[in-house]
Amino acid sequence: MIFCPLPGIPTITQGFGQNPDRYAVYGFEGHNGIDFGVPTGTEVYAPHDGVASLHEGNEGYGKYLVIDADKRRSILAHLHEFLVTDGQTVYQGDPMAKSGNTGTSTGPHLHWTYKILKNGTVQNKDNGYDGAVDVTEFTRLWLDQDLHYDATYTDSAKEYLHMTFADNQYLKNLNRVA
Ligand SMILES: [Zn+2]
Repeated sequence: MIFCPLPGIPTITQGFGQNPDRYAVYGFEGHNGIDFGVPTGTEVYAPHDGVASLHEGNEGYGKYLVIDADKRRSILAHLHEFLVTDGQTVYQGDPMAKSGNTGTSTGPHLHWTYKILKNGTVQNKDNGYDGAVDVTEFTRLWLDQDLHYDATYTDSAKEYLHMTFADNQYLKNLNRVA
């Protein structure tokens, strides 16, 4: 299961698929992720387990990181500071970075792109978003602030991506304090 990289009820400032004109230059049909309007320095957490890779540029995503796993990939972008190292294995809920305003950005925010992978390969790359999918449904999953232990997810959330998640998947972090 994945959950929002920000706790609470973060404000979505740009939804998935919005502003097609702005994203045509990237070959996308619209915004290929979700933007949360949060102040620079806001702690960002891993939406799922994986291996982190760190990236830095002046345009586009700016300072960003990718969390890769067999079945999924998250991109967390426009960051201010990394809190993990390149190649580090990370677990859902780990602090990953502090949000920022780097790259092509009109104000401090966190951008989250999510892609479904199969054996490490992005699926549905021809969906108009290079395989990115809308995970707005999961932005509310921090509402339960005890996600590492006994979070309960709705059936609709489980079915949202038509993926099967082990019931005990989040229990990997039993020794972790949220
Ligand atoms: Zn964005």
